[in-house]
Amino acid sequence: MKSLKYWHDMAAEIRPETRLFIDGAFVDAAQGRRFESVNPATGRVLAEMAQGGVEDVDRAVSAARRAFRSGVWSRMAPRDRMAVLYRAAALIEKHADEFAVLDCLDMGKPITELVSGDVPFSALTFQYFGETIDKIDGMVTSTDPSALHMIVREPLGVVACVTPWNYPLMMAAWKVAPALAAGNSVVLKPAEQTPMSALLLARLLAEAGIPEGVFNVVNGFGEEIGRHLALHMDVDKISFTGSTEVGKLMMIYSGQSNMKRVTTECGGKSPQILMRDADLDMAVTYAVNGIYTNQGEVCSAGSRLLVHESIYPDFVEKFLREAGRFQPGDPLDPETTMGPLVTREQQTRVLGYIESGREDGAELVLGGGRPDGLSAGSYVQPTLFKDVTPDMKIAREEIFGPVGAVMSFETEEQAIEIANGSIYGLASSIWTRDLNTAHRMARDIQAGIVWVNCYEHGDMTQPWGGYKQSGQGRDKCFDTMLAHMQTKSVWINLG
Ligand code: NAD
Repeated sequence: MKSLKYWHDMAAEIRPETRLFIDGAFVDAAQGRRFESVNPATGRVLAEMAQGGVEDVDRAVSAARRAFRSGVWSRMAPRDRMAVLYRAAALIEKHADEFAVLDCLDMGKPITELVSGDVPFSALTFQYFGETIDKIDGMVTSTDPSALHMIVREPLGVVACVTPWNYPLMMAAWKVAPALAAGNSVVLKPAEQTPMSALLLARLLAEAGIPEGVFNVVNGFGEEIGRHLALHMDVDKISFTGSTEVGKLMMIYSGQSNMKRVTTECGGKSPQILMRDADLDMAVTYAVNGIYTNQGEVCSAGSRLLVHESIYPDFVEKFLREAGRFQPGDPLDPETTMGPLVTREQQTRVLGYIESGREDGAELVLGGGRPDGLSAGSYVQPTLFKDVTPDMKIAREEIFGPVGAVMSFETEEQAIEIANGSIYGLASSIWTRDLNTAHRMARDIQAGIVWVNCYEHGDMTQPWGGYKQSGQGRDKCFDTMLAHMQTKSVWINLG
């Protein structure tokens, strides 16, 4: 691992691109507006970013449409398109440290997590979807001999990708790579809290050979340009990751405009269920990681810890010991395991949830406030409540911070009832040594992802998405390619 000095030097020297990327060029916003990107670890302004408005979105969408119609990308030979995405993957790897520093400064995620997780997984995403390009086949169906019926798959057209701030580069990669691989043109709107790394991605995609107009980045605010994109009559699909609240708006915007396709990857309140026969030491290690990694700002954070009553006291004791691994600090320090929350606003929101846990009568056994000596940043201590009941706000709502809620249960049925008693259904885990229990519970849990005796394991083949109000899309996996295409039936009369 590189030293603290290495990362600090790089952070001091890096000059992030701040303009928009439209039609193959970096440009200022039409109205010349700018907004500040702030470092949540220090409260200092990192950069004055170009703030896109509706004119910029319109320019980006028309560039994307023009490029799509020209066929320069949408009809490029599959092998050539594959080569471009492979080059993109290689360039992301080559510029890994720059990406890591940009997202670390912008979002507060520990540099070690970026270097070992977000950045290599983003490169892999371009590689994986590149590999799928020539694996997409059409079909000739069995019809009467007087006809030839072909089902062909075609790209959709212009895809708008709207992304959140918690994995800035990686969420962009998950959205953009399959859209491009399928032959679409893309307009990416990153979260306004983390606008920087998408512009480096734009430069590298151009260098990799993505033609002008095929990939565009417009930074700015959700209610202004996110909304405008989602209502745009010339956008064919919204690929959205973010809150459930805004995900629902996306579906409304589609209905109010051109019925564009919408896929949503939204919030979660995922249960980690420890049965009586769980491997407790291992389960605790995963449970702690499951809630404190990335400061708990993870859609799949295992924020509800459902523990069988027979192991409940042991679990809490071991958890408190293990939680010491997560110490808030300078996210550029390779030793740091927990950074600040993304903004002051998010810090206030999370502290408000902690207050509500206290008021509702849960017992605070860890953290609960701001850590000492880090007041310039928007930090919150790793926090744990025990004796939480399913009706409490901290057990029902997505906190999106380092706050775990421990609940006990007596029977398997009760565990399933609590686990499923949520508007969300993104991820879950079951800890048991009994095969029958594992299979039964995996079947009964209403969630898009069920981990057995692990948490956050997976690879590119794993469909990522939720049941219920966690959204209706799937990221990663082969099917995601198909969700960026449409089928056409070509019926030829041979009679
Ligand atoms: P958010 O919904 O506030 O914002 C997401 C994006 O939508 C941003 O780009 C924002 O600018 C834009 N936006 C906001 N309001 C809009 C509007 N009215 N119209 C159009 N666009 C609008 O979410 P966030 O706070 O950036 O991210 C955190 C949320 O994302 C959490 O709920 C988390 O669970 C979710 N998330 C889900 C997944 C998943 O895979 N399921 C992954 C990461 C994050």
